[in-house]
Amino acid sequence: MQWQKTLQKGHSDNTELKPCSGCGALLPGGDGGCQELFNQLLARDYTNPLFGSVHMLAVDCHSLQHPENHGYKSNSVHLLSLCWQLEHGDKSGPGVMPKWMRQEFDGRPAVPKLEPPKNRGQVTIVDVHGVTTPAEHGERVRRWAASVWEAWSAHQAWARQWLAEKMPQEESRRGR
Ligand SMILES: [Zn+2]
Repeated sequence: MQWQKTLQKGHSDNTELKPCSGCGALLPGGDGGCQELFNQLLARDYTNPLFGSVHMLAVDCHSLQHPENHGYKSNSVHLLSLCWQLEHGDKSGPGVMPKWMRQEFDGRPAVPKLEPPKNRGQVTIVDVHGVTTPAEHGERVRRWAASVWEAWSAHQAWARQWLAEKMPQEESRRGR
């Protein structure tokens, strides 16, 4: 992928590229390098609200590509969050998770431990890293989200059904 080549060039100081065991991205440092790039993204999200407007999408994407690093409810919660943002959220920007949804996930919710797909999407943190403008960042994170949502297609029906049952009527109408 073109962006990955760009990153590779940026690390032409013989830093060895290794695949991340979670998302499959080829990058300096493998798993640790992937987490480091994500930490950098989070740090910028917290200090620059323009980049932070797609914060929740980015967290969902990285979590769903690295389920081994998270607890039993992570896959369900992040897939539902992703589904809600892509199909029901405010189209001007994903924003924050609504209160009714956060309450559903409090404590130990009765959600299934979804089996992650082998291929977790073509787009990874490497493709989002190194962007300098919020607009481009937003575009790439949305592309990342579309890729992860597609990769998790086996569980899309479950996510849609859950939202259809739990989402307040008002919210449902507004999102369509
Ligand atoms: Zn990774």
